[in-house]
Amino acid sequence: MADSSDAQSLEQAPVYQPPSRLQTGEGGVPVAHIKSLEEYWTMYEQSIRDPDTFFGKMAQDELSWSKPFNQVRYGDFKRGNVSWFLDGQINVSYNCVDRHALTNPDRVAIIWEADEPNQHTHITYGQLLEEVSRIANVLKKYGVRKGDSVAIYMPMVPEAVYSMLACARLGAVHSVVFAGFSADALRDRILDAGCKILITADQGKRGGKTIQLKKIADEALGACPSVQRVIVFQRTGDPNVPFYPPRDVWWHNETANQRPYYPPEPMDSEDPLFMLYTSGSTGKPKGVVHTTAGYLLGAHITCKYVFDLHEGDVHGCMADVGWITGHTYIVYGPLSNGATTVLFESVPTYPNASRYWEMVDKHKITQFYTAPTAIRALRRLGDDFVSSYDLSTLRVIASVGEPINPEAWNWYYTVVGRERCALVDTYWQTETGSHIISPIPGAVPTKPGSATLPFFGIDPAVLDSQTGQELQGNNVTGVLAIRSSFPSVTRTVYDSHIRYMDTYLKPYPGYYFTGDGVTRDQDGYYWIRGRVDDVINVSGHRMSTAEIESALILHPACAEAAAIGVPDDVTGQAVVCFVTLKPDITQDENTIRTAFVSTIRHHIGPFASPKRIIICGDLPKTRSGKIMRRVLRKIAGGDVTLADLDDEQALKNKLGDLSTLADSNIIGSLVKKVIAH
Ligand code: ATP
Ligand code: MG
Repeated sequence: MADSSDAQSLEQAPVYQPPSRLQTGEGGVPVAHIKSLEEYWTMYEQSIRDPDTFFGKMAQDELSWSKPFNQVRYGDFKRGNVSWFLDGQINVSYNCVDRHALTNPDRVAIIWEADEPNQHTHITYGQLLEEVSRIANVLKKYGVRKGDSVAIYMPMVPEAVYSMLACARLGAVHSVVFAGFSADALRDRILDAGCKILITADQGKRGGKTIQLKKIADEALGACPSVQRVIVFQRTGDPNVPFYPPRDVWWHNETANQRPYYPPEPMDSEDPLFMLYTSGSTGKPKGVVHTTAGYLLGAHITCKYVFDLHEGDVHGCMADVGWITGHTYIVYGPLSNGATTVLFESVPTYPNASRYWEMVDKHKITQFYTAPTAIRALRRLGDDFVSSYDLSTLRVIASVGEPINPEAWNWYYTVVGRERCALVDTYWQTETGSHIISPIPGAVPTKPGSATLPFFGIDPAVLDSQTGQELQGNNVTGVLAIRSSFPSVTRTVYDSHIRYMDTYLKPYPGYYFTGDGVTRDQDGYYWIRGRVDDVINVSGHRMSTAEIESALILHPACAEAAAIGVPDDVTGQAVVCFVTLKPDITQDENTIRTAFVSTIRHHIGPFASPKRIIICGDLPKTRSGKIMRRVLRKIAGGDVTLADLDDEQALKNKLGDLSTLADSNIIGSLVKKVIAH
């Protein structure tokens, strides 16, 4: 990727200084942990030069060990044997619960905001210790031992968090499956992980709708002989929910009979803590395995420094616990820091598009974390839903999941952050366990669309995708890889170390390969350009999907856009864009298409002119809200015919794994659009 067509536009990117109040404490806000760029660089350089001292000290100072480690790290990306804090013993549940409960039992650990507006509960650290212990005792009673896999298929209720922490307490390996998944997807994940126990709920509530979790689970379990026991939490109490004793037991009956204390099991630093399947944006999901101490340290210190978490903070991460963002930034990171974490059961548009902001106001949220897909959706609906709320408690607002288009960044920064919050665009992956490139709120100046600079211990390299050579210096574009191991990086793919090696460590030997394209600009700032597989090459001009999409969204009629490349006889590849419009757009489609083309020509250049622009009602997304360009590529390439729409197997053969597609109806309407166009 030699040429960087947009180097010029990156040079002109505006720079936002960190909010000065975070550096001075003006207005009574806590002074940031890291207050200047110099301080960040000093810490960063030490973390790279001497990771043993840097992380050895962090691990000792920030975590509570039952037995100290005697070596900070061992192994490397070449051999795939990465390990940290060897011979140490630690329990994650102790660190997230007991050490706060024992000193501050009345501090609020969780604010649960239910699907129904105006319904919320506070759970203190003291209560959390009792609840986690009770369910840990239930799991023990049903034979769960250290190393066993437990599947968790739960709505966003506190019991989901208790279940995760109970597994950590016993040393069982949890596999949380997002409650929006179908029976087939759940079955595949249970089988892959060989789970003995499933924890689920009678039903889930989301955006006023009821989800038949237990029915779906029963369907999945028909083909899962390893599951001996199903623990069912009553979320709604609907009497018609199927229940099959003795396999099925009720959560409330079981926990009522258990002692509210369970001693945390000392775990080796490198014992697995959990496995979690990736989003499936690029292919079949992988069962990523995270281990105990390194993961916890990554979750703890990124929460502390990237969110600038302080005592008394209310951390509002809007993800689902079924994703890595929920694991790290709803559960493990905030609780390890002793903060109050918000668990949000609903959706941002229920009962209306003010839900997030009403919640920030009501619970006095200090850190707010969501995804570009939600920001774009709320921006589309207008500012009125935001303006009337008191958002003055916010200090850090954050984004994750996809590159955030500068236009969406500006809206978030101005309308939500009111130009007084740090906006941190956090780049990371299921596999990295915690943030790897992100601004530090009180220290690092930001540029909309850039995740800025690496976190401590992350040594990024920009590689030439063809030769694997490192591209030195600034103003380079290539693929993003990491030079040396860091505490929270995944250690293996469950039961498939070969896939781990093949996916992450073999493509560029000695490096961890992220799969993402990147530009390092003149200031050493990183701009994630999207998946390497998604790069579009028109007559030798290599373009990222992110830059075309960011140009389109500058047009006032555009709500969201996805750009892809399709084969072209003349130019090698041609650009095709799928666009959704803002409400109340009255111009005819041809006029709008012409306007979109000139927006792209103006902001990027004539060579990026799309061959086709398809205006559609919605884009295909993963259940975590990411655009699935691989599906669009196949549809735009004409691979799918109308006849295929009625044939599930044919669709699967042509489009690949669709288990993580959020709304399967979209395929039919897109195929029809493309054929009609
Ligand atoms: P799969 O690996 O199954 O294809 P996935 O990569 O979408 O799915 P995740 O681990 O949830 O699964 O997502 C990580 C990816 O999300 C990153 O590799 C990157 O492409 C994208 N991403 C996450 N955060 C950001 C960000 N702040 N800026 C740009 N891209 C991001
Ligand atoms: Mg991935």
